[in-house]
Amino acid sequence: MSRNLISVKNVTKRYDDRTIALAHIDLEIEKGEWVSVMGPSGSGKTTFLNILGCLDRPTEGSVYINGSEVTGLSHDSLTQFRRENIGFVFQQFHLIQYLTALENVMIAQYFHSMADEAEAEEALEKVGLSDRLDHLPSQLSGGEQQRVCIARALINQPKIILADEPTGNLDKENENIVMGHFKKMHNNGHTIVMVTHDPSIGEMADRQVKLEHGRSTRPVTNY
Ligand code: ADP
Ligand code: MG
Repeated sequence: MSRNLISVKNVTKRYDDRTIALAHIDLEIEKGEWVSVMGPSGSGKTTFLNILGCLDRPTEGSVYINGSEVTGLSHDSLTQFRRENIGFVFQQFHLIQYLTALENVMIAQYFHSMADEAEAEEALEKVGLSDRLDHLPSQLSGGEQQRVCIARALINQPKIILADEPTGNLDKENENIVMGHFKKMHNNGHTIVMVTHDPSIGEMADRQVKLEHGRSTRPVTNY
């Protein structure tokens, strides 16, 4: 029995005839592993993460998560699979501007099954935001918004956390706070795939994968 939670087989993504965003990517990720995906701008990092996260499909190749081939699922099944298995944290936060911190977390629960206010409050407490429940995103600092996103990502207890440049818009102090939460998620057994071009963030992972022009180059390991 394979220990791999995520298995990427020969994945290619073409956006049009001229743009090959990913070319023949193979990658195995174990349960509980923290992998960082590094590489220059335009190298295919976001495309790769979106494919892992069932937000986009490869043009060729397959992705298996927990033994199921997600690339074979219908649109609706893919959406359902994503809600149950994957939490996202984005550089640009992607919070709904007219909803409070609490409501932003509750809406993620709602899409999964049922909203539970007490549980959403507890999730925000865990990231140190119990005094910011009723604030709108515009009333929160970047670091606070990213902590709301972490609470939102964790609310449905997904196995996998995908993060695209999660510290890209943060100052050093907030970067440390946010990375502290990622370390906690890692210690709690979540599998993390994090895109970053910051070497000091990349080094926190168990393993680094490098993309260049959509191709995986020599993998660097910290083992
Ligand atoms: P990164 O996140 O490493 O900066 P991306 O995955 O965003 O890279 O982009 C990889 C390549 O694919 C780039 O050349 C980019 O311009 C192109 N690309 C990304 N998204 C699209 C899209 N929706 N349509 C067409 N081309 C795209
Ligand atoms: Mg990107």
